[in-house]
Amino acid sequence: MRASSTAPGRTLNVLVKAAFANALPDDLLTDSISLDRAKQLFSKYVDQVEIENHSFCNRICWFCPNAFIDRRSVSHEMPERVFETIIGGLSEIDYAGALTWSRFHEAMASPRIFDRLRSARAALPRAGLVMISNGDYLNRKTLPRLEELGLDRLIVDLYMPDGRERDPKEIESGLRKFSRRTGMTLEQTGDFSYRVTGLRMKATVDIPFYTESGISTRGGLVEVEKLSSYRRRAVCMAPVRHVVIDYNGKGMICCQTRSDAPEHREAIVGDLSESGYGVFHLYRDLGATRRALLSPGEKSGVCLTCDVRDDGPDRLARRKWIAGAAARMPGVANSVDRLWNRVMRRDLAS
Ligand code: SF4
Ligand code: SF4
Repeated sequence: MRASSTAPGRTLNVLVKAAFANALPDDLLTDSISLDRAKQLFSKYVDQVEIENHSFCNRICWFCPNAFIDRRSVSHEMPERVFETIIGGLSEIDYAGALTWSRFHEAMASPRIFDRLRSARAALPRAGLVMISNGDYLNRKTLPRLEELGLDRLIVDLYMPDGRERDPKEIESGLRKFSRRTGMTLEQTGDFSYRVTGLRMKATVDIPFYTESGISTRGGLVEVEKLSSYRRRAVCMAPVRHVVIDYNGKGMICCQTRSDAPEHREAIVGDLSESGYGVFHLYRDLGATRRALLSPGEKSGVCLTCDVRDDGPDRLARRKWIAGAAARMPGVANSVDRLWNRVMRRDLAS
């Protein structure tokens, strides 16, 4: 999900978010609502469901908690029952947002991903099926198969060796190897961005370059300077718009957190491996977290050092009197919703 990066675009986003934070219904900010209501709210506000197919990733990038939390020695698959619970719930509302395989695993490391894609495509005809991959397992067989099975969007992050992320020779060699392995031609679209040509689905390749100041602390896990220097006051919309589920069925407050980190125990909101617990229970149970994150003031727990989408201290916060006035004015909530859809969701597939 990428918001506009131009200055006027960013200002507009901030204004829309502020209006949105204050126009949200009160019962979105509590976990004491019926499951039916949670389902309605989920249908209206969630545009990204992010999951893991299994636990394994073959890499240990320095900026990722996988550098010190083991995801390589053994791979745990997401249990079929958990996957079916997720897909079944989304299918009940004919979900039309993004279903993304991403987080802390490499989705292409297990062939099981192909069955899961097939099932998701059959059950969720309107959803955008998305995968973020490091590209290591893509080749002349696997890449076309993703498209055949109904993937809509493939985002490849092609990592260069540490310290040589902007070395032209490394980049040229990395791109050449990727093209040779996949049989695909790349068309340059930006300084370090490429489009894979000849596919129906949209597939892109980026060459990331992370620096200590540019990365987030991943909910306080990664040892960077801002762990001690930064304290979050900005509101966060993540638990309004996103639902995040780990390979083991644990529902998290956001994509920055992970259930296999002991420090993130408090960020586990629910468990979809428990019988009778599904995506709408999880969304309901995020209510208290949403309330805390939309309020003004310093944030706590895993959010304290997280600078992801910090649009400025308290600028977007929900104030009781503004929210109360907005709720009493007929048509305000609908107008804000329309604005949100136009400004914030326009790049769902970008
Ligand atoms: S490839 Fe992705 S998930 Fe794997 S270690 Fe690197 S950043 Fe983390
Ligand atoms: S502030 Fe950061 S850690 Fe907290 S919910 Fe938002 S993205 Fe996640």
